[in-house]
Amino acid sequence: MSDDQEYRGVDDAPAPMEVPSDPEESLDAVREAALRAGLEEYELTEDDLAALAGEAPAETEAALPTLAVIGRPNVGKSTLVNRIIGKRLAVVEDTPGVTRDRVSYPAEWAGTDFMLMDTGGWEAKVQGLDLSVAQQAEVAIDMADAILFVVDATVGATASDEKVVKLLRRSGKPVILAANKVDGPQGELEAAALWNLGLGEPYPVSALHGRGTGDLLDAAVAALPTEMPEVEIDPEAPRRIALVGRPNVGKSSLLNQLAGERRVVVDETAGTTRDPVDERVEIGGRAWTLVDTAGIRRRVHMTKGADFYASLRTGAAIDRAEVALVLLDASQPLTDQDTRVISQVVDAGRALVLVFNKWDLVGEDERFLLERSIEQDLVQLPWALRINLSARTGWHTNRLVPAIDLALGSWDQRVSTGRLNSFLGELVAEHPHPVRSGKQPKILFGTQASTRPPRFVIFASGFIDPTYRRFIERRLRERFGFEGSPIQISVRVREKRKRR
Ligand code: GDP
Ligand code: GDP
Repeated sequence: MSDDQEYRGVDDAPAPMEVPSDPEESLDAVREAALRAGLEEYELTEDDLAALAGEAPAETEAALPTLAVIGRPNVGKSTLVNRIIGKRLAVVEDTPGVTRDRVSYPAEWAGTDFMLMDTGGWEAKVQGLDLSVAQQAEVAIDMADAILFVVDATVGATASDEKVVKLLRRSGKPVILAANKVDGPQGELEAAALWNLGLGEPYPVSALHGRGTGDLLDAAVAALPTEMPEVEIDPEAPRRIALVGRPNVGKSSLLNQLAGERRVVVDETAGTTRDPVDERVEIGGRAWTLVDTAGIRRRVHMTKGADFYASLRTGAAIDRAEVALVLLDASQPLTDQDTRVISQVVDAGRALVLVFNKWDLVGEDERFLLERSIEQDLVQLPWALRINLSARTGWHTNRLVPAIDLALGSWDQRVSTGRLNSFLGELVAEHPHPVRSGKQPKILFGTQASTRPPRFVIFASGFIDPTYRRFIERRLRERFGFEGSPIQISVRVREKRKRR
């Protein structure tokens, strides 16, 4: 795409589908009714019926408070986490291509839902085990709403525990102190010695046997904030943007260029020294919420594991946003780290705008070649919106808002069930699924189960080839747009009901 063409999509994009009141609409409706009736001959699960009724479960994880479990290696963090979330860890993600490091897991105690952040596996993921406990704690504390600090009561408080205590104090966040490995009454005394840490009452527990964990969890749940900022409910609320990308691509420069002086802190936790996390900014004359601007300004300087932590933090920011602007340095070739950030956005199902920054460094004569190589790098993401700009000079920054609007419009778009099934009917008539061992799977019915991002459920009588699935996605995009938004298509193979 040349620089001048990059915007053409904005005006040409199909408007969000509205059901038109024309004969075609009634045809769609008739066809939908017939297909729906046909589907009744098949074995459907509760989940299927919910999808058909348009009741896809809302994505709520982002709106839950986070409890981080931190502590030195071997104090029993992982054992405790497993006790809290139990076997539910084994939940298999349905979405193909989920490659993100999972940071937090949904958990529940005494009727309270929350996210449990497990730092137990972090050491293993960061090369070289000598990463300081304090560095690790700092990242977790930063991202959590309350902290469960685990100390090995049989060892007592060590120097590195003391360091973490300092960080905890400075954070001002609620802390629950778990004195672990108290497997019997004889350990209670050692646990009581941890009053000395100055973090309040130590809860004696045995993560291994479950002793005392109920009281501990009661206290932890009570420490979580009850009111979390709503992510999606208020349609009037400014839309949430994450500005992400590897270090030095120009995130803070762009933030400054965009926000200028007109910045309002949105989320400032009263009475703490915590950095403001989100800021309201005015871009293009409208209000937006930029998530995790603290993460952009504050640089965590680490020799080891910096990438891993940057990726955790980026993941958290993406999860809380509706649209992610991924910044890339146009003056350098795309790196693996760039590609990883892009995948994080796609896997999280957020709207995406790719921003090629530092375009002022690209000479006139280099532009053509550069465009070509970018094109090749991004061949897997033909739907991604791209903007070339310069955060330093402000060149083309006025193109951001139209691109964000387009991406969010796609992310919000809903295709009516009637339209969708007419489309599927035409597609199958034109290009039937290839016959496999004498059988041809039939597409029975399709529905858009949800928006944000658009998720489609297609019911079929047999396995649909991956190539055919990709073909469906390509055609869906050709017909309905969805530029700037990932879409998810899941196929449910259902069998005919047995006659009784
Ligand atoms: P992490 O490195 O903090 O995640 O610690 P782990 O959960 O991997 O536990 C380290 C070791 O301590 C393992 O051998 C556990 O079985 C053991 N452990 C964990 N909790 C308890 C406990 O409550 N009592 C006893 N006796 N051992 C425990
Ligand atoms: P961050 O780490 O992603 O927040 O990146 P910064 O905003 O700190 O930028 C890193 C470096 O790139 C700084 O030296 C900036 O001055 C420089 N930089 C940022 N944007 C541009 C740009 O559009 N053009 C040029 N030439 N340099 C830029």
